[in-house]
Amino acid sequence: MAARKLTVVISQSQSKNPQQKKLEEELAARLLMDATAEVAVVPHLYDMHADHTGMLFLKSIPGDIAVLSWLYPRAIRWTLHRQNIAGKQGQTLLIDEADKDDQKEEASTNRINSQKGAGVGTVPNRFLYCIDLRVSDNVEDYLEEIKRIAQEQAVETVELAGLTNDNSKPEQTQQYLRSENSQDNNGAMTEPLREPVKRRWYPVIDYERCTNCLECIDFCLFGVYGVNDQDLILVETEDNCKKGCPACSRVCPENAILFPGHKSSAIAGAEGEVAGFKIDLSKLFGAESSIDLAVKERDRELVAEGRTAVGKNVGLPKRREHRKTKTRDHLDELIDSLDEMPL
Ligand code: SF4
Ligand code: SF4
Repeated sequence: MAARKLTVVISQSQSKNPQQKKLEEELAARLLMDATAEVAVVPHLYDMHADHTGMLFLKSIPGDIAVLSWLYPRAIRWTLHRQNIAGKQGQTLLIDEADKDDQKEEASTNRINSQKGAGVGTVPNRFLYCIDLRVSDNVEDYLEEIKRIAQEQAVETVELAGLTNDNSKPEQTQQYLRSENSQDNNGAMTEPLREPVKRRWYPVIDYERCTNCLECIDFCLFGVYGVNDQDLILVETEDNCKKGCPACSRVCPENAILFPGHKSSAIAGAEGEVAGFKIDLSKLFGAESSIDLAVKERDRELVAEGRTAVGKNVGLPKRREHRKTKTRDHLDELIDSLDEMPL
């Protein structure tokens, strides 16, 4: 019996920013020399299709995974979840200071609304540790956190083969664990063999927040959303989503729709109800409610497709009904009081 190594997956940046590349390479090179972890480098999580070998590799990992990506931890977790890569949320201590209070807020808010979480599904008994590579530019901070996580793993089971001999994973995914062969003469990681990926744009649902109210499916007129055989919301035809359009994330009453690449932190997956609220606040003070803005964004995409703008006539009445009947919380009160303010 021996402790199973933690699998550490570094998801590459979408950009060619040399500092980001350097951090990825240094981290991978250092982890290769670390006996407590297996390391793999994959393309950007959000950009990989379900059948990309990097995604197949991720799906093949049976145990705990630490995923480091240039995304908010919430965006990492739910981007993986939509690919059926699920697990209990491992506690990550390396987070942005500003997110700590938001995490507490989120935990207490989730307890208030028991309708949340209907779409989470079965979660396997393993942990996913999601780490945002933007939190620090110091490679030591990540190594320290990975060491802490590896020590936290109380489990284990059977001896796993070494880095290059693990035959338990499909052959097409082996390249991601042959990382030591990817080192150049200076010890730095070279680009792993991989299929090219293109930048993508689609919504990601945070099912822990989602109440399955289905407002998003009513609002989006581009056929992106659907429901499964249990009538639970899902992102069905993701590539129908209009690049740059975040409209439905503004309409979702639970701030449960993420666009991980959006410039606004709340839409991109920053923690906390408060984060979502901050966005609404800025829009309100900018004399435009988030609903108005969403309607405008949707109309722009309709017109660009040669269709007719629909304004507020389609996809919104249900929201008003829902808001009248659902249990009100402090956030509703706050938003309503701001709605009534003269702007
Ligand atoms: S609008 Fe938000 S809460 Fe409602 S079903 Fe869609 S994602 Fe879930
Ligand atoms: S962002 Fe726009 S196009 Fe994409 S799913 Fe939402 S409403 Fe539909």
